[in-house]
Amino acid sequence: MPPAHPFDDDKLREECGVFGVVGLADAANFVALGLHALQHRGQEAGGIVSHAAGVGFNSARRFGYVRDNFTKASLMETLPGPLAIGHVRYSTAGSKGATQIRDVQPFFGEFSMGGAAIAHNGNITNADALRRELIDRGSIFQSSSDSECIIHLMARSLQRNIPERMKDALRRCEGAFSVVAMTRTKLIGVRDPLGVRPLVLGKVGDGWVLSSETCALDIIGAEFVREIEAGEMVVITEEDGVTSYFPFERQAARFCIFEHVYFSRPDSIIGGKSVYDTRRNIGVELAKEAPVDADLVCPVPDSGTPAAIGYSQESGIPYAMGIIRNQYMGRTFIEPTEQIRNMGVRLKLNVNRALIRDKRVILVDDSVVRGTTSRKIKEMILDAGAAEVHFRIASPPTAWPCFYGVDTPEREKLLAATMSEEEMRDHLGVDSLKFISLDGLYRAVGVAEGRAPGGKRYCDACFSGEYPVAPSDMLDKGFQLKTAAE
Ligand code: SF4
Repeated sequence: MPPAHPFDDDKLREECGVFGVVGLADAANFVALGLHALQHRGQEAGGIVSHAAGVGFNSARRFGYVRDNFTKASLMETLPGPLAIGHVRYSTAGSKGATQIRDVQPFFGEFSMGGAAIAHNGNITNADALRRELIDRGSIFQSSSDSECIIHLMARSLQRNIPERMKDALRRCEGAFSVVAMTRTKLIGVRDPLGVRPLVLGKVGDGWVLSSETCALDIIGAEFVREIEAGEMVVITEEDGVTSYFPFERQAARFCIFEHVYFSRPDSIIGGKSVYDTRRNIGVELAKEAPVDADLVCPVPDSGTPAAIGYSQESGIPYAMGIIRNQYMGRTFIEPTEQIRNMGVRLKLNVNRALIRDKRVILVDDSVVRGTTSRKIKEMILDAGAAEVHFRIASPPTAWPCFYGVDTPEREKLLAATMSEEEMRDHLGVDSLKFISLDGLYRAVGVAEGRAPGGKRYCDACFSGEYPVAPSDMLDKGFQLKTAAE
């Protein structure tokens, strides 16, 4: 299993990426490449299921990086056929930090009309209730994953084909789901009615591709066709191409705004916009909203880089690489001893001392979650002789947990849930701390008028506390929604 990243306890983490191919010889090889490009969405484990006529379904699920497993000819030879889907994961609800191989997707089910495999990105917010109901009615679960509910709900459907069973199953699910699935002949993609998590369609030669992000189309030379719409199901075959359905009641989309800030790769395109450009725009907005006199603008690598460039361009303050990231930090140095593990951030980042000394430095980061990393980075910059440290954050204060497929600490562990901006500044020990406003973030993603009252255009619940789908399992466990006074 890959090591804990030094920032692991202090970043929100996307929990999954999905990818599927139909109509290309040895589709699993393309899926492996796609998953490699989506590795930022989940580094704990990955899996691929393929189907070949005369051979049937085959699957491989492994802990670790895609490149360490799905590059071996001996493994890839076991995944033949022109149809394959795959999944990379961090850990989904139910087994954080204690993943078993049985929790690794894609999940597979054998039905009377044939087998089906599914890979799910997101989180089903009523999965606990569904699981209880299904177990009471005789379902035997193999994993602790919320996604397995989909297979059991499909098994209980009375519909005669798998896409119809999948529609039945997903109509019972609440929350966020971008699903890539396959039967013997069909590649299927579905997005939940709000389209919270991404899913795109691509084309390469005679083949079709479904992917969490466009960056994974690029790696296999596929052309981007379009996004799967919120609430849409596409069924794709080699013979008939793409057929589209809308099985859910239509609702206005509420895409995750944090995909723009942090989760997606900067070379992906979302909603027709380059993620890189959006992040640079966030830096521009931030410089307008929170100017400060300083000598250098430095990103916290790598995710703060485009916003730092934008901040520098807007403010006229020179951009500089004040912090250098060790690209090759890996498991070798993290695992052996507690002492080395405790070095944490220093293993990954180092300050460019000659540049920083006696300078007033603006550090641009994508988010502050618990604040532990921000404190350590500030100490490193001051140790290097900086005259002043100013934090500028490319997202609003993260004050609420995400229940839609992103790993977030409990609410009380989020710095912004318990402290005001001034208290956070004090706690981090920096000269100034400013976050982009929600309105500024909306402007940066292209909504010129800012955030409409009540949100509506995007999911921004981790900043606003306004959840577009009630997190019903969490409410049953006592989670308190925002009150009128907050
Ligand atoms: S709560 Fe935040 S991270 Fe989760 S889907 Fe909404 S915007 Fe994205």
